[in-house]
Amino acid sequence: MTVYLVGAGPGDPGLLTRRGAQLLSRADVVVHDRLVPTELLALAPSGALVVDVGKRPGEPRRQEDINALLVEHGRAGRTVVRLKGGDPFVFGRGGEEALSLAAAGVPFEVVPGVTAAFAAAAYAGVPVTHRGLASSVTVVTGRVGENEAGEVDWESLARAGGTLVVLMGMAERAEIARRLMSAGRAADTPVVVVEKGTTAGQRVARCLLEDLHKVELDSPATIVIGEVAGLDLHWFDPGPLHGRTVVVTRAANRAGRLVEQLRVAGAEVVALPVVETADPEDGGRALAAALSRAAEFDWMVFTSAVAVDRALSAIGDPGALDGVRLAVVGPATARALEERQLCAEVVAEPATAAGLVSSMPPPSAAAERVLYPRALEVRPELADGLRAKGFAVEEVVAYRTVPSAGVLDAQLLGRAATADVVTFTSPSTVHAYLQAAGGALPPVVACIGPVTAEAAGRAGVHVDVVAEEHSAEGLVRALVCALRA
Ligand code: SAH
Repeated sequence: MTVYLVGAGPGDPGLLTRRGAQLLSRADVVVHDRLVPTELLALAPSGALVVDVGKRPGEPRRQEDINALLVEHGRAGRTVVRLKGGDPFVFGRGGEEALSLAAAGVPFEVVPGVTAAFAAAAYAGVPVTHRGLASSVTVVTGRVGENEAGEVDWESLARAGGTLVVLMGMAERAEIARRLMSAGRAADTPVVVVEKGTTAGQRVARCLLEDLHKVELDSPATIVIGEVAGLDLHWFDPGPLHGRTVVVTRAANRAGRLVEQLRVAGAEVVALPVVETADPEDGGRALAAALSRAAEFDWMVFTSAVAVDRALSAIGDPGALDGVRLAVVGPATARALEERQLCAEVVAEPATAAGLVSSMPPPSAAAERVLYPRALEVRPELADGLRAKGFAVEEVVAYRTVPSAGVLDAQLLGRAATADVVTFTSPSTVHAYLQAAGGALPPVVACIGPVTAEAAGRAGVHVDVVAEEHSAEGLVRALVCALRA
């Protein structure tokens, strides 16, 4: 029953501290700002209460209300993670929150974070100090009048020299430059402005102090003023999909890998889970019954990680599968088995139903028995192919893919509508997306394989990209190739 004031880092989810990740993974309540990386929220347990207290123009949430919320949840004995962008004590009002918790007698701890002030500069190739160029760095707010200790003394800062890092300074950038120059800072002092630093959407502008007013970047942006800004230790590659927004329609519990691969490639991802996995209509009775006879089967085949999860949860003890040979359609499914200390004997090559049929060793004289726990809505190729090859196949429905029950967030749908790419990973995602989005589609449509592409075509959707390898990696690779061309 503690409130943790946790720094989320500047945007790159990899810049969260290990302590922060550990606390998030056992939070009852997460209270976060608008600027925290959304990937980090996924680290919280699925049952955690996640509250966005981000201040948006037009709907300011008062700091007192946030303090009161933290006190309330803290007093109720919950583990509360107050997740703040960058470092909680660098212009984050973390100090005020700590004071109000202390006053209310609620225990708190602070987990410092990587501040945007330094990280945005670093990702733009600028070291904030450098021997011979800057022996000091000052971090300052650009919000004139916001600072309760009074106005920022720009004249003294100009005289002090060294590196000046201005946060929240875009609106006042012309005035800031004017005051620094009139107090003696050279008009040709190098400046670098970093928007959305450390993220796939990072944009960098370089100029001289006298031209700062001409820089047209959006917030959040960090302004670095000083000789070091003339350096460009170019190292951060935002990836081949940098600047592209890609919609992922897959069910939330299956989207992880695709989202991750897209982000690694530099894309901005809109996770719009238009479908979700649900229990079979019988609530899983047939699955449980089939699995209670697991030892009767020679083989078990899986075509998705969800099927693995469902089947193994129904079995409980993976030891019940001793002696049953396992075959899977692709690497993601093989990984799902590995996570449960099980090893697939056959991994289909290529990762398709036909590939799985041909990868299976032919059955011995006595018909070998195959159990195939599957989604309700699959095509018959795999079962038919295995039967044609001489296997005795028993199919059982392990789950269904259904349109998402909850109403999709209007803001997310809006972002999807202006995205560059939409990805479809099954026919069900195509149909559910068209229904949710009212038919509006981003300019590029990418499908994980021919089955999905065909379904899209039948629904009147023009498909631009079809992955050759039917996996998250394959889809991202195909997209990179197509967009590069
Ligand atoms: N506590 C935060 C700063 C909060 S003030 C930290 O330590 O990073 C918010 C300001 O931080 C923004 O107006 C912007 O100037 C800066 N900022 C936050 N995230 C940023 C990012 N990803 N890239 C560039 N600047 C960022």
